[in-house]
Amino acid sequence: MPQDAAIQKLNVRCCITGGGPAGMVLAYLLARAGVEVLVLEKHADFLRDFRGDTIHPSTLEVLHDLGLLDDFLKLPHDELRDIGVQIGDVQSTVADFTHLPTHCKFIVLMPQWDFLNFIADHAKRYPEFNLRMQAEVTDLIVDGDRVAGVRAKTQFGPLEVRAELVIGADGRRSVVREQAGLQVENLGSPIDVLWMRISRKPSDPAQTFGHIDSGRILVQIQRGDYWQCAFVIPKGGFDAMCERGLPAFREEIARLSPYFRDRVAELKTWDDIKLLTVTVDRLKQWYRQGLLCIGDAAHAMSPIGGVGINLAIQDAVAAANILAPAFRRGSIPGAVLLMDALNSEMSPGDSALPEAIAMGLTPAQAGASGAAHIDSPFSRNSLENDGVPSGGKAGSPAAHINSSFLRNGLENDGVPSGGIGDSSAAAAENRSAPSPEAPNSTVTEDDLAAVQRRREFPTRMTQRMQVLIQNRVIGRVLASQKQLSVPWVIKLLTHFPVLRRIPAYVVGLGFRPERVRTDDSAAAPPA
Ligand SMILES: Cc1cc2nc3c(=O)[nH]c(=O)nc-3n(C[C@H](O)[C@H](O)[C@H](O)COP(=O)(O)OP(=O)(O)OC[C@H]3O[C@@H](n4cnc5c(N)ncnc54)[C@H](O)[C@@H]3O)c2cc1C
Repeated sequence: MPQDAAIQKLNVRCCITGGGPAGMVLAYLLARAGVEVLVLEKHADFLRDFRGDTIHPSTLEVLHDLGLLDDFLKLPHDELRDIGVQIGDVQSTVADFTHLPTHCKFIVLMPQWDFLNFIADHAKRYPEFNLRMQAEVTDLIVDGDRVAGVRAKTQFGPLEVRAELVIGADGRRSVVREQAGLQVENLGSPIDVLWMRISRKPSDPAQTFGHIDSGRILVQIQRGDYWQCAFVIPKGGFDAMCERGLPAFREEIARLSPYFRDRVAELKTWDDIKLLTVTVDRLKQWYRQGLLCIGDAAHAMSPIGGVGINLAIQDAVAAANILAPAFRRGSIPGAVLLMDALNSEMSPGDSALPEAIAMGLTPAQAGASGAAHIDSPFSRNSLENDGVPSGGKAGSPAAHINSSFLRNGLENDGVPSGGIGDSSAAAAENRSAPSPEAPNSTVTEDDLAAVQRRREFPTRMTQRMQVLIQNRVIGRVLASQKQLSVPWVIKLLTHFPVLRRIPAYVVGLGFRPERVRTDDSAAAPPA
């Protein structure tokens, strides 16, 4: 990173830190409702290690509301219609999704990056949507009591984004919530989880299930040609497990699922096994003036029920339902891109120049003469967000003019600027203007409190159930040395199949499922 790079400065209505399920879905919904939004994601792409692959019926309902469900189901995926459990040698089905009152009566299993790419691709049709990859938020900008923006590191130098509202959607190790000084309530967890992949053979069971035996729990998620396995261990037990050695660990797995015996050697080193330190926590208050946390940043979930992604998405839907009208309450002169460099220091050779170009300014507007900067990887990244072509040739003037930042800067009063001729004039005006302060927000603390009120109940209820299961069931199983008997609840579910709809409802739909209530600003007005 250039040491002396000029600070790039942006002004947006809503800045979302973190391009995970919560951040991307909220960004999509706000942009769709006509609110200018910028997502800052620290990674270069969505292709990260296993972070859960489940898209629950509640999220599929959201996709249906958005008219995206059919397209989504065209992506490669598996469908999970029931969940089983094996205690000792006894197998039972404990959840049956086929009776849910939803369009999809199954859980979709799909790599999380496919879901995020799908959302990003659809979000790009809205000019208000902006995504910056490789932008790691490090700090908050605070004016008095109000959070007024964020500072981020990018590969092309420091970035400052001023925003009416900052959304912390940067996951369970959220920098934003820490910097904001929001208090965290830790609910504790007696378990950690080891994640690994083991190949699957046609002769293996078809069902996704949990295998429970004295002192051990192995959850096997059926993923077609492989099993995504979760081995539950007592909290902090990983070091002791490593000391016992990999062969002993492989033996534990093979004892639970004997058909793995010829495959456990696929676990070649401990690098093939990922430790998830389970945390269950939530913020006492999810917001302060100018800032709201959602998803894992507001509440880290236990892996029990695999509901973290869906809860994060439900938060996003509720937040959009409440915040989109709040953003519309007042007419704010929209975002204006300004960089320090444009005001004073930048010369054609500055490293910040490609950034200006990528953000929608033509070389002439940015004060450059050469075309060499335009075709930099950075400009391609920014224009194409995550590597998906945006339609124009990367670095071409047409591509720059298509950038939403330029449109927002020039047309934010709703009056189309009419193209390149107008844009030059407006950009020239911007160049001579002082760096603008973040506009006063139309989003109030009451709006932010309303989001927390809406989502706190489902969060608390879900966490309460997870903690109960962790402490009363899983903790006891891990501590037990003798043969387990089948609990009465499982016996009940075995004898009365209709009861399997209850766990399916809780896992598949959850408490207080959200529906999309925001408009599509790009939809044609009624004739
Ligand atoms: C191993 C594992 C397995 C899981 N399995 C499941 C499952 O099967 N089903 C399920 O529903 N949930 C599962 N979860 C939980 C699930 O991944 C989370 O609950 C969910 O992803 C939360 O979404 P989020 O958008 O709030 O946060 P995240 O998904 O954590 O997204 C946060 C994003 O912010 C980015 N970020 C972080 N810091 C910064 C920063 N400073 N600046 C910019 N960007 C930043 C991150 O790169 C990330 O993209 C699992 C989690 C793990 C770790």
